[in-house]
Amino acid sequence: MMVSDIAVGVTCNNCCIMCTNIMPPPTRWDASTEDIERMVRSFDKKERKIVLTGGEPSIRSDFLRILRFIKKERPDSRTMVLTNGRIFCYPEFTKKFISTGCDWVAIPLHAHKAELHDMITRAPGSFEQTVQGIRNLLDYQDEVDLDVRVVIHRLNYKHLPALAKFISNEFNGLHQVVLFPIDIIGNANINRKELLVKITEVKPYLERALNTLEKNDFDISLFHIPFCVLDRKYWKNVAGRTVEDRRITFEPCGECIMREKCPGIWRTYAFRVGTAEFKPIRPAPKTIYTKSPNLNVR
Ligand code: SF4
Repeated sequence: MMVSDIAVGVTCNNCCIMCTNIMPPPTRWDASTEDIERMVRSFDKKERKIVLTGGEPSIRSDFLRILRFIKKERPDSRTMVLTNGRIFCYPEFTKKFISTGCDWVAIPLHAHKAELHDMITRAPGSFEQTVQGIRNLLDYQDEVDLDVRVVIHRLNYKHLPALAKFISNEFNGLHQVVLFPIDIIGNANINRKELLVKITEVKPYLERALNTLEKNDFDISLFHIPFCVLDRKYWKNVAGRTVEDRRITFEPCGECIMREKCPGIWRTYAFRVGTAEFKPIRPAPKTIYTKSPNLNVR
């Protein structure tokens, strides 16, 4: 599917420790409404998915206007908003948002409790608002798809099983849960000493979380997590990657049989952590009989 991202600016009401932007931003660049409308008009008519990202798109005063404009200009496209979801804690706003016809919302949730989530977003009160925002959007689950995103790093990986339970208990009707490790750029790079963790250290916690989510019938997608660090039963959840090839490496992969389908690993991860954990997957060895098997059937 053709995808076009519209980064509407850098302003945000969170200041996440692992943001891929530098937060707070060194410059206050935000696109004007006209810039964004020009961008939308310039997209190829074949664009099938248009994604609004930021900063935080939902805190712009022209947020609903932009969504209406996209739907008017590109009625065949699927429109998605990547947001911290806090604004949807206001039911009246959520209702107006639904009326724009936006198809899909993706909201990161960093932990199962306010103390940890707010420490990661560095925005007191953000957990309560985000959780309530998700609940309010779920009131419209027939009108808008919703996925919850979990960005994995050292501060939250041991809490993944608890987060999976929280999501299962709180968000009935949720479309899907998406999990992926941090890309070490922007704030994630600045704060990397606190954030870096090996994917193989994450694995047991991640797999317990996946078990819980699977039992509760969520669609689960793993991005940027290679096959070779997962048990085979979770391979069906490996959904690929969200970025262009140059940000990915297959440096350690040799003749791995999964290479064609594998999302690979972040280049930034290979640079900062190394690649020793990633082992090429070999074809299963052929059975060699030392003497002819007895094929007589009585
Ligand atoms: S060895 Fe490389 S290609 Fe194979 S699963 Fe691991 S990261 Fe992917």
